[in-house]
Amino acid sequence: MLDKWFGASRWLWNTALGIRSEAYRHCALKLNGNDISGWLTQWKRTAGHEWLADVPATCLTQTLRDLDRAFSNFFAKRARYPKFKARTTSGALRFQDIGSAWSDGILSLPKLGALKLTEGLPGTAKPAMVTLRQDAVGRYFVSFSAAVDVAILPVTGKVIGVDLGLMHLATLSSGAKIVAPKKYRATLSKLRQQQRCLARQQKGSKRRQRQRRRIAKIHARIVDQRQYALHHLTTDLVRKYDVIAIEDLNVKAMARGMHSRSIHDAAFSEFRRQLTYKAQWYGRTVIACDRFYPSSKLCSRCGHKLDQLRLDIREWECQKCGAHHDRDINAAQNLLTAAMRQLAGSDSRDLRADGESPCTTVMSAQVFPREARSGQLMSECLEHERIS
Ligand SMILES: [Zn+2]
Repeated sequence: MLDKWFGASRWLWNTALGIRSEAYRHCALKLNGNDISGWLTQWKRTAGHEWLADVPATCLTQTLRDLDRAFSNFFAKRARYPKFKARTTSGALRFQDIGSAWSDGILSLPKLGALKLTEGLPGTAKPAMVTLRQDAVGRYFVSFSAAVDVAILPVTGKVIGVDLGLMHLATLSSGAKIVAPKKYRATLSKLRQQQRCLARQQKGSKRRQRQRRRIAKIHARIVDQRQYALHHLTTDLVRKYDVIAIEDLNVKAMARGMHSRSIHDAAFSEFRRQLTYKAQWYGRTVIACDRFYPSSKLCSRCGHKLDQLRLDIREWECQKCGAHHDRDINAAQNLLTAAMRQLAGSDSRDLRADGESPCTTVMSAQVFPREARSGQLMSECLEHERIS
C-alpha cells in the first residue's frame, strides 16, 4: 500500500512539474499548487486515475506544497530548477493530520492506523507534521520536529584537543587513541570486496542489479555503524570537557587529494556537525582551528616548526628540544594550544600571540530528527586504546 502511495506522490509531483513547466514555457503562465489542486479533484474522478483517491488527501496536498517551495527556492536563487523524480529514488510522504493517540505514545496515520515503531515516541507535544520516509534499502522511518528543553551540563574545568585521522577515528591531546569499532572495519572491507564483484558484472544485467542492491545494504550498514561510533564519541567529549578544540578540515580539499576516502570524509563532517550541535545544547565550546594552521608540523613542547612531515611518518623527534612525538597526539596538543590562545585572545587582547588569530569558532548546527536521543548509545561500540 505504501509503495502505491509513494508512487502516487511521485506521479503527482512529476505531472504537476510537467504542467507548470509547459505552461510557463508556452504561455508564460505561472501556475501554483492551488491551480493544480483544483485539477487533482477532477483527476480523482477521471477513469484510469481512481487510485489517486486511495491516497490520503493530506499527502497529495503536501506534495503540491513541496513543489511550490521547490519553485520559490528556485526563483529566490537558493536552489536549482525542480527535477522530475525517478522511480528508483526512495520516497517520502508528509502527513498533517496525525491522529489523536500521540499522547499515549502511539503514532497513528490516516488510513494506516496505529504504527508499531522500533523506538518509543518522546514525551513532547503532538507535532504539526510527520514525515514517513523509505530509504534506499527499503527501511521506513518517521520523522518530526519538536521543541524540547535541554539541561546544560555542569562545568568540568577540563579542555581537550581532538585530531581526526584515517588510522584512528580520533586522537585526543590526553594521549588516548580511539579506534573505529571492529564491526565497522569489517563492513568496510566487505564493501570493497562486493564492489570488486560489481565491477566484473555485465552492465544492465539482472545479476548486476541484485549486486547493486546488496552494496546499497552494506552502505546503509556502514552509515549506521559510523553514526553509532561518532555519536558515542561526541557525546562522551561533550560530557567530559568544557572546551573542545578540533581541526577545521576542508573536506572538499581532502576529497581531491590522494588520501581521499569518501567514507572517511563523510565521517569528518559528520563528527563536526554532531559535536557542534551537542555543544550548543549542553553549553560547551567547540573551537575549530584554521585548516592552514600547521598542527602536525609544530613541536607541541617548544614550538619548533618542521619544514615538512611526510604522511607515512607516525612518530618523530624534535631537532630543537629533543622531544619525541606521536604524530597524532602532538597534533591534538597543538590544536588545544591554539584554541586556548584563541579563547584567551577573546578575553584580553594582550594575551594574543600574534596579530592574526589562527582559529575561528564554529557556530552553526544542524540537528537531524533521528538524533534527539544521543544518550542511548552502547559503550561497547568503541574500543579505547591508551598509549603511554
Ligand atoms: Zn621541540
